[in-house]
Amino acid sequence: MVSNTIKESLQRWVDYGVPPGGFLLAVLRNDLGAVTLADAQNFPNIKDIYVYVYNELPSDCWGSDQKVIAWRGKGKEEVEKTNWEEIYDDGNCPDCSESIPDTMVDGGECFNCGHVFFVD
Ligand SMILES: [Zn+2]
Repeated sequence: MVSNTIKESLQRWVDYGVPPGGFLLAVLRNDLGAVTLADAQNFPNIKDIYVYVYNELPSDCWGSDQKVIAWRGKGKEEVEKTNWEEIYDDGNCPDCSESIPDTMVDGGECFNCGHVFFVD
Protein backbone atom coordinates (compact mmCIF):
# COMPACT_ATOMS: atom_id res chain seq x y z
CA MET A 1 0.00 0.00 0.00
CA VAL A 2 0.95 3.63 -0.44
CA SER A 3 0.76 5.69 2.75
CA ASN A 4 -0.88 9.11 2.87
CA THR A 5 2.48 10.63 3.75
CA ILE A 6 3.89 9.33 0.48
CA LYS A 7 0.84 10.45 -1.48
CA GLU A 8 1.00 13.93 0.01
CA SER A 9 4.71 14.25 -0.77
CA LEU A 10 4.06 13.17 -4.35
CA GLN A 11 1.15 15.59 -4.66
CA ARG A 12 3.34 18.50 -3.53
CA TRP A 13 5.81 17.47 -6.21
CA VAL A 14 3.09 17.34 -8.89
CA ASP A 15 1.41 20.59 -7.85
CA TYR A 16 4.30 22.78 -6.80
CA GLY A 17 7.51 21.03 -7.79
CA VAL A 18 8.57 20.67 -4.16
CA PRO A 19 11.15 17.86 -4.16
CA PRO A 20 10.36 14.97 -1.78
CA GLY A 21 12.89 13.23 0.45
CA GLY A 22 15.79 11.13 -0.85
CA PHE A 23 13.92 7.87 -1.28
CA LEU A 24 10.95 9.30 -3.17
CA LEU A 25 13.18 11.55 -5.23
CA ALA A 26 15.12 8.47 -6.32
CA VAL A 27 11.83 6.82 -7.30
CA LEU A 28 10.90 9.89 -9.37
CA ARG A 29 14.31 9.81 -11.05
CA ASN A 30 13.63 6.16 -11.87
CA ASP A 31 16.83 5.36 -9.99
CA LEU A 32 17.09 1.78 -8.77
CA GLY A 33 19.11 3.16 -5.87
CA ALA A 34 15.71 4.00 -4.39
CA VAL A 35 15.71 0.42 -3.15
CA THR A 36 18.69 1.11 -0.91
CA LEU A 37 17.27 4.42 0.32
CA ALA A 38 13.90 3.01 1.38
CA ASP A 39 13.36 2.78 5.12
CA ALA A 40 11.82 -0.25 6.79
CA GLN A 41 8.33 1.18 6.30
CA ASN A 42 8.71 1.94 2.60
CA PHE A 43 10.77 -1.04 1.54
CA PRO A 44 7.93 -3.58 1.40
CA ASN A 45 5.83 -1.03 -0.51
CA ILE A 46 8.27 -0.04 -3.23
CA LYS A 47 6.39 -1.86 -5.95
CA ASP A 48 3.10 -0.25 -4.90
CA ILE A 49 4.75 3.16 -4.82
CA TYR A 50 6.12 2.70 -8.35
CA VAL A 51 2.72 1.55 -9.59
CA TYR A 52 1.11 4.58 -7.94
CA VAL A 53 3.62 6.96 -9.50
CA TYR A 54 3.19 5.28 -12.88
CA ASN A 55 -0.61 5.48 -12.78
CA GLU A 56 -1.22 8.76 -10.97
CA LEU A 57 1.58 11.19 -11.80
CA PRO A 58 1.86 13.17 -15.04
CA SER A 59 4.52 11.47 -17.15
CA ASP A 60 6.55 14.65 -17.58
CA CYS A 61 7.24 15.05 -13.85
CA TRP A 62 9.08 11.75 -13.28
CA GLY A 63 10.99 8.95 -15.00
CA SER A 64 14.44 10.47 -15.54
CA ASP A 65 16.93 12.95 -14.09
CA GLN A 66 16.15 15.41 -16.88
CA LYS A 67 12.42 15.40 -16.21
CA VAL A 68 12.91 15.77 -12.48
CA ILE A 69 15.31 18.68 -12.92
CA ALA A 70 12.90 20.37 -15.33
CA TRP A 71 9.92 19.91 -12.98
CA ARG A 72 11.66 21.02 -9.79
CA GLY A 73 10.23 24.27 -8.46
CA LYS A 74 7.72 24.47 -11.26
CA GLY A 75 4.86 22.05 -10.98
CA LYS A 76 1.68 22.26 -12.97
CA GLU A 77 1.00 25.37 -15.03
CA GLU A 78 -2.43 25.79 -13.51
CA VAL A 79 -1.48 26.07 -9.86
CA GLU A 80 -4.52 27.22 -7.98
CA LYS A 81 -4.67 30.99 -7.96
CA THR A 82 -4.71 32.82 -4.66
CA ASN A 83 -7.63 35.09 -3.90
CA TRP A 84 -5.57 38.09 -2.78
CA GLU A 85 -8.65 40.23 -2.16
CA GLU A 86 -9.48 38.05 0.82
CA ILE A 87 -6.02 38.50 2.29
CA TYR A 88 -5.22 42.15 1.59
CA ASP A 89 -7.70 45.03 1.55
CA ASP A 90 -9.33 45.09 -1.90
CA GLY A 91 -6.42 43.04 -3.21
CA ASN A 92 -4.10 46.03 -3.05
CA CYS A 93 -0.48 46.18 -1.91
CA PRO A 94 -0.46 47.56 1.67
CA ASP A 95 2.66 49.63 0.96
CA CYS A 96 1.99 51.25 -2.41
CA SER A 97 -1.71 50.45 -3.05
CA GLU A 98 -1.00 48.93 -6.47
CA SER A 99 -3.48 46.14 -7.16
CA ILE A 100 -2.04 42.66 -6.69
CA PRO A 101 -2.12 40.67 -9.95
CA ASP A 102 -3.98 37.36 -9.64
CA THR A 103 -0.89 35.61 -10.95
CA MET A 104 0.98 36.62 -7.77
CA VAL A 105 2.31 33.64 -5.82
CA ASP A 106 2.73 33.16 -2.08
CA GLY A 107 6.01 34.81 -1.14
CA GLY A 108 6.11 36.85 -4.35
CA GLU A 109 7.10 40.54 -4.48
CA CYS A 110 5.07 43.57 -5.48
CA PHE A 111 6.28 44.60 -8.95
CA ASN A 112 6.01 48.22 -7.93
CA CYS A 113 7.55 48.44 -4.44
CA GLY A 114 8.96 45.00 -3.62
CA HIS A 115 6.55 44.30 -0.76
CA VAL A 116 6.45 40.53 -0.17
CA PHE A 117 2.99 38.98 -0.12
CA PHE A 118 2.19 36.05 2.11
CA VAL A 119 -0.94 33.92 2.18
CA ASP A 120 -0.75 33.52 5.94
ZN1 LIG B 1 3.65 47.56 -3.59
